[in-house]
Amino acid sequence: MSYIYVGIDDTDSPDGMCTTYLCALVIQRLKDKGFTIEGYPRLIRLNPFARFKTRGNGGVSFKFPKEQFKDHDLNEAKKIILDAVEELAMFDCDNTNPGVVFYDGEITEEMEAFAYKALHSIITIEEAEEFAEHIGAEIHKFKKGRGIIGSIASMSCKLTDYTYELLAYRLKENRGTKRHIDYDSVVRMDKLTDTFENIDGDYLAIEPNTPCPVLYGIRANDPESLKKAQKIVINGEEVERYCIYLTNQHTDMHLEDAKDIASMKQYSSYIVEGFVKDKPHTIEGGHLFFTLGDESGSIECAAYEPTKDFRKIVARLRPKDKVKLYGGIGKENTFNIEKFQVLKLNNIAYRNPKCPECGKTLTSAGHNKGFKCKHCGYILRDSSKVPYEISRQLKEGKFYETPVSARRHLAKPLVRMDLSD
Ligand code: ATP
Repeated sequence: MSYIYVGIDDTDSPDGMCTTYLCALVIQRLKDKGFTIEGYPRLIRLNPFARFKTRGNGGVSFKFPKEQFKDHDLNEAKKIILDAVEELAMFDCDNTNPGVVFYDGEITEEMEAFAYKALHSIITIEEAEEFAEHIGAEIHKFKKGRGIIGSIASMSCKLTDYTYELLAYRLKENRGTKRHIDYDSVVRMDKLTDTFENIDGDYLAIEPNTPCPVLYGIRANDPESLKKAQKIVINGEEVERYCIYLTNQHTDMHLEDAKDIASMKQYSSYIVEGFVKDKPHTIEGGHLFFTLGDESGSIECAAYEPTKDFRKIVARLRPKDKVKLYGGIGKENTFNIEKFQVLKLNNIAYRNPKCPECGKTLTSAGHNKGFKCKHCGYILRDSSKVPYEISRQLKEGKFYETPVSARRHLAKPLVRMDLSD
C-alpha cells in the first residue's frame, strides 16, 4: 500500500497548546470530511537536548492511504491541516516556529538516518530544508519553520521498539485551570492495568503541570490496556477528545553505545562504561556529582536535585566501582544520569594496622614513614595499610533508575527492560 505522510511540529509554547492536540483535532476534521488515516498517529520524541524544545521535544505524524485521493481531493486535506496550524499555533511565542511536511513515497533508509540524527544530534533548519528537497517532500514553514525538522523525523523514525500513549484533552474553557483527576482512581488504574509511569508517591505522573490542553496521558505497551485504563480514571471534568499515539517513548532510542568517554559529544545521549574516580559529592542546590573515567579520559556525571532519592543511591558509589551509565551530556557538559547498572563493586577498603604489642590501632608516622603506636610507642617501618572487605548497599548486576517524576519521555523504565539474565 502507498501512503502520503504528514508531519507537524513546533506549534506550542509554554503558555499553551500542544502539537498532539492540534494533530488529534486535525485528524477528526479530516475524518469528518471523509478522509481515511491509517493506524495510530505517531508521537516521536527527538533529541532531549535540542535547544528550542518547549517540553519533551515531540514531533507528530500520520499517514493517508494514497488510493483515497482518486476520488478525494488531496489539496482539501492539506488545506484542513495547514488551516488548523494557522488557527491554533502559538505564533506570539518567539520559539514557536511551526513546520508541516507532506511526503508522497516510501520511507527510505536515508529518511530513517535523518530521524536517527534528530534523536542523537542537532539539525539546522537549512539542513532539514535541503533534505526535504532531496527526498521530494513538500514543506510548509510558518515563521522560521523549525518544525520541519521534527515533522520529517517523526514520519521517518524507524520504530524497532515502541509504546502507546493515550492522551485525554480538556475543553477549551477548562484549559489553564487546576485539574481534578481523582488520585485513588489512578492508583486503581495502575493496579488493574498493564500501564506504567502513572504515579510516583503523591505525584500524579499522568497529569501535566502546564496550561496545555492535555488533561492526562497514560502509557502502555499496547492500546488495549490504555482503553481499559481510560475507563477507570475519574477525570473530574468533561473530556473534549481522546487520541492514542504510537510512540518511541520509553524505548531508550536516544541512547547510543559510547566507544569510550572521549568519543562522547555534548548534546547527545549514551550508554557508557567506566570507573568511578572520586567520592560522589553534593553541591548547593542538592545536585550530586562524581567523575567517571576510563583509559580515554573522564567526565563529570550528575544526578540533579529533581532526581530526589536517586541521588542517595548514586551517593553509595565508591572510587574504583565499575558502572554502566545511561544518560546524556547537556548544556553544562556534564553527563546527566538517567539510570545505571553496577558492573563491579570495589568492596575493598584499607585501614591502619594494629599494634603487634598492645593491639591498639597505629597512626601514621608521616608520609612513607610507616606507623607508630601512640599508646605504647611501637614503630612499624612498613607503610602498607591493611585491606579489608566492606559491605555495600549496591548490588552487582543491578540497575538503578531515576524516579518517575524525573524521568525522560525517552528513558526506558526498568519495568520495560528484559532483566532476566
Ligand atoms: P511538546 O513536547 O509540548 O510538543 P516540544 O518540546 O516538542 O513541545 P517543540 O515546540 O516541538 O517542543 O519544539 C522543538 C523544536 O526543535 C521543533 O522545531 C523541532 O523541529 C526541533 N528539533 C527537534 N529535534 C531537533 C534536533 N535534533 N536538532 C534541532 N532541532 C530539533
